[in-house]
Amino acid sequence: MPRPCVCQVPRASADPAAPPLFGTSAADTIAGVMEPAEKMCEIGRRAYARQLVAGTEGNLSCRLDAERVLCTPTGLSKGLLTPADLCLIDLEARQLEGRRRCSTEMRMHVGIYRAAPHVQAVVHTHPPFATTFSVLSEAGFAGVLPEGDIFLGTVPLVPYRTPGTAEMAEALLPYVQDHVAVLLQNHGTVTWGNDLETAYVLTEMLEAVCRVVYQARLLGTIQPIPLEKRGELARLREQRPTDV
Ligand SMILES: [Zn+2]
Repeated sequence: MPRPCVCQVPRASADPAAPPLFGTSAADTIAGVMEPAEKMCEIGRRAYARQLVAGTEGNLSCRLDAERVLCTPTGLSKGLLTPADLCLIDLEARQLEGRRRCSTEMRMHVGIYRAAPHVQAVVHTHPPFATTFSVLSEAGFAGVLPEGDIFLGTVPLVPYRTPGTAEMAEALLPYVQDHVAVLLQNHGTVTWGNDLETAYVLTEMLEAVCRVVYQARLLGTIQPIPLEKRGELARLREQRPTDV
C-alpha cells in the first residue's frame, strides 16, 4: 500500500504559534544544529540571488545525525530563510520539530539518504537553463566542459513524476549510487554530496554547463572534447577530493 503523501503526515509542531526550534537562546546552545541551520539559510540566499529558484521553489536538506534531517519549510522564499523557519524530520519525512511545515518534496530527499548512507546533503532547485533541458528531455552533458566531466560526470534524466509523491522519490533511486546530479524531467535538478556546500556547488556547476550548452547551440554546433582526452577527465574525476 502506498505511504501517505508527505503533506498528509501528521506534524507534531507545524504550528505558527509553536516556539521556533532555532533562534532562541536555549536552542542556540544545541551543539551541531545552529551551524548547519545558518549554512542552509546562507545557501538559500545564494540560490535565490543566482535565480536558481523563483518564488517559493526549491528545497534544501542535510543530515544532523543517523535519524534526523534538517530541511527547509514549504511556502517560503529561499532568499528569506532564517534558522527559526527550518524543520527537523525523520528518515520517513515525518516532521519532528519546527513551527513551519516541511517542504512537500522531502520524501525525495529522505529517499536519497536511505539509499546512500554517505550522502549528507541534498539540494533541489529549478535552475532556468537546466530546467529548460529537462523540459526537452535532454540530459547527459558529458564531453562539453572539463569541469562538468570531472565534478558532475554524466547527468541522467529522471522520468517525470508528480512532485512530492512517493513515485517521484522512487524514480530517482536508481541514480543515487552512481551519480551526484540529475535532471528531473519537466521539473528541475537535484544534487547531493558530503555537505550542503558541496551539494549546492554542484547545482551551480550543472546550471553553468547547461547555460554554455544552450548558448553554444544558439551560435553553432558544439565541438565536444576529443574522445582521446576524455579518459584523462575520467581519471581526474576518480582522483578528486570527495568533498569537492
Ligand atoms: Zn521542485
